[in-house]
Amino acid sequence: MLKLYNTLSRKKEVFKPLKDKRVGIYTCGPTVYWFAHLGNLRTYLFEDILKRILEFNGYKIKHVMNITDVGHLTSDADTGEDKLEKGARRERKTVWEIAEFYTKAFKKDLKFLNIKEPDIWIKATDTIKEQLDLIKVLEKKGFTYKIEDGVYFDTSKLKNYGRLWGSKKMKVKAGARVEMVKGKKNPTDFALWKLTPRGVKRQMEWDSPWGRGFPGWHTECVVMGAKFLGVPFDIHCGGIDHIQIHHTNEIAQAEAALGKILANYWMHGEFLVLKEGKMAKSKGNIVTVESITKKGLKPLAYRYLALNTHYRSKLTFSWEILIAGQNALDNLYQKFSEITSDAKEIKKESPTKIDDYKNKFLEIINDDLNMPKALALMWQVVKTKKLSPKEKYKLLLQFDEIFGLNLKKVAESEIPQKIMELVKERENYRKSGQWQKADQIRQKIKAVGYWVEDTPEGPKIKKIS
Ligand SMILES: [Zn+2]
Repeated sequence: MLKLYNTLSRKKEVFKPLKDKRVGIYTCGPTVYWFAHLGNLRTYLFEDILKRILEFNGYKIKHVMNITDVGHLTSDADTGEDKLEKGARRERKTVWEIAEFYTKAFKKDLKFLNIKEPDIWIKATDTIKEQLDLIKVLEKKGFTYKIEDGVYFDTSKLKNYGRLWGSKKMKVKAGARVEMVKGKKNPTDFALWKLTPRGVKRQMEWDSPWGRGFPGWHTECVVMGAKFLGVPFDIHCGGIDHIQIHHTNEIAQAEAALGKILANYWMHGEFLVLKEGKMAKSKGNIVTVESITKKGLKPLAYRYLALNTHYRSKLTFSWEILIAGQNALDNLYQKFSEITSDAKEIKKESPTKIDDYKNKFLEIINDDLNMPKALALMWQVVKTKKLSPKEKYKLLLQFDEIFGLNLKKVAESEIPQKIMELVKERENYRKSGQWQKADQIRQKIKAVGYWVEDTPEGPKIKKIS
């Protein structure tokens, strides 16, 4: 029984998909004007874990992620500049070049962190027509008004506006926005279509019934979710910073246009924080995957850290903490390598024992993705004397389908310590001319799946496939 925390109901719920064993997931993707930092990537790690857990439970997933390449402004209050246009000016490139470059960089980050790619990638600029269609429907139903700045959604017209807010609702109403677009009726109203100001030539702009301009950021996700997953779909995810405005406004548009909730489950990952506060590009304190590798650390050390904090708790980051994560990961690899080589010799295994641990693991991960507890169980398996190496080997590889720490690669690529010791022993016999003994050891190595070949540079070890 899989339980997930739903921001919509503010409680853990037993997960029930719309269609038997199929799950539709939509996750808000990157705005491709700069490198993703570790705080951004934490959200994608959480979503990756969620997907892996759903798969572990036997669900077949259809996952859609957008690439925001237009319309995301530097301020959430519909003022400020388009992040892409700003990035293009900074780097003296076209917006299209900027978008392509940072999209590639983002996909590379995902690979480094072992995050599985979505089934469908879709760019905001590839759904302009659908976005215009949605705005037309909203206009027809009386939810919009036009001002000099563009076409806005009138939030006072929607009875249930702010479904995700919970008790914070009152606070938002009282809290005064610093900036407000001239002519906006309510502080929470948001831009559906921004008009290009007179005398300005944007690199990205399109014709619309209301004039030349570009879509507001909150419309693309509604259109893409609806296009590929239908409405409602099962799960919508993002960072907690999306609850207040972006996801609230996605829900508002779907409800106004279609009379339905956009998705049944809304899940949000917490922030990564530094001792001095939030990691943000505007604060100039961002850490990227590249900065991790530049320091000689593994990106997967960060994945390990992210696993070690529950996705709904704040993750504190510092280089010392990352190094501790790297040490834990190296330790795991070392132990797993030993288990792998022992497992070849001690083949004892009891299916019931394996199942007991597997069920325990499933129970833990199905409790709203309790990965810190799952990691603790993993270490228990590594250390216990109650399991044989073969049993440990099998369990750890199964656990790693969720953790994604590349244990399979360790088993495949690294020559276990035990084999290395045997090779060394054989070399000593060869040097002292004890050929028969050397040959016996070669047979022993072969029996556990490795082949030694003598070359002028010394012995070469290969795994027999
Ligand atoms: Zn979104």
